[in-house]
Amino acid sequence: MRRIPILRPLALAAVAVALVLAVPAPAQTPEEIQKAVSAAYEKYKDLKEGANADYIPALARVDPKLYGIALVTVDGKVYAAGDVKTEVSIQSISKVFTMAKVIEEQGLDAIPKTIGVDATGMRFNSIIAVELAKKALGGPEINPLVNPGAITATSMLKGATRDEIWKGLLAFYSDFAGRPLAVNAEVFKSESDTNQRNQAIGYLMHAYGFIKADPMRATDIYTEQCSVNVNAKDLATMAASLANGGKNPLTGKQVIQTGNVPGLLAVMVTAGLYDDSGKWYYRTGLPAKSGVGGGIIAVSPGKFGIAVISPPLDDAGNSVRAQKAITDISNALKANPLASTPR
Ligand code: GLU
Repeated sequence: MRRIPILRPLALAAVAVALVLAVPAPAQTPEEIQKAVSAAYEKYKDLKEGANADYIPALARVDPKLYGIALVTVDGKVYAAGDVKTEVSIQSISKVFTMAKVIEEQGLDAIPKTIGVDATGMRFNSIIAVELAKKALGGPEINPLVNPGAITATSMLKGATRDEIWKGLLAFYSDFAGRPLAVNAEVFKSESDTNQRNQAIGYLMHAYGFIKADPMRATDIYTEQCSVNVNAKDLATMAASLANGGKNPLTGKQVIQTGNVPGLLAVMVTAGLYDDSGKWYYRTGLPAKSGVGGGIIAVSPGKFGIAVISPPLDDAGNSVRAQKAITDISNALKANPLASTPR
C-alpha cells in the first residue's frame, strides 16, 4: 500500500502524545522512600498506646517496645527503620498465605464455594458468625481471615499426612519470605494449651459440614501456622510478593500464579483488620492483614509491600504503631491505589 507522506508526521505526533500520557507519575527516589520510613519510625517511637494480646499467655511476654518497619519494593529494594530482625509469631497474617495455598491447589472458586469471601461483621473468633453462616440462605457468609474460615482453609490443604501438609505449608510461607522460616515453640505450646475456643470452632465447622477432614488436626495445624516466627523484613517480603504479581522480588521465585493475587487482596480489603477493616481501607486504600502478635502487612499493588511489627494492640486487636506508621508512609509515597489525579 502506498503511504501518504503527511500521515507519517501525524502518526509520529500521535505516538508521542500517547507516550506522554502513558508515562506514570514519577516514582519516589530511594532517598524519599527511606525518608518516609525513617520519619514514621521516629514519629511513633515513643508512643505508648495499646497493650500486648494476653489471651495467648506467651504473647503477653513479648517486649512491647519492639518496633520495626520494613518496606520492600517490587524491584527488590529494601528500606528499613528500627528493629527488623527480632522475630514474633505471625499469628493471623498466616491466614492470607494459607488461603493462597488452597487457591493454588484447588483454584479461585474453592474459597467462595466452601468458606465465603464476605465480612462477618463479628469478632475474628465469633461463634455466632458460624451459626449465621450455617443458616445463611445465599451460601456461606464467612471468610478465610476469621478463625472459622481460617481453620476450614487449613483443613482443605492437600497432603497425605499431617507431617506432609505441615512441611508443604511451612515451605510455602518460606518461599514468600525468601528464607526458611521456623516455628516459635513457646508460642505454639502456649496457644495449644489455651485454644479450646478454636477447637470448639473447628468442631462446629465440622458438624456443619464446612470442614470435611479431622477438625482437631486442622485446628492443630492452624495453631502451628500462627506460631511461625517472622521479622518485619520477612513480612514485608511476603507482602511485596503479593504486590509483585505473586513473584518474590528478592528471590525472583514465582510463588503463586499471578491471577490468584487479586482475590487474595480482595479478602484482605474485606476482612484484613478485624472489625476495623472498613476504617483502615477508608484511610489507606491498601489491602492489609494484621495479627495479634503485633504485625501488620499492607500491599500497594505494583509498588511495594510494607510491614510493621509493634506488639501493643488497640481494642480491635490491631497494632497501634503499625497502623499509624503504615498510614503515614503510604500517604507520603502516594500509595493509595484508589487515588487518582485529574487530567
Ligand atoms: N492464633 C490466634 C487465634 O486464633 C490468631 C489471632 C489473630 O492474630 O487474630 O486466636
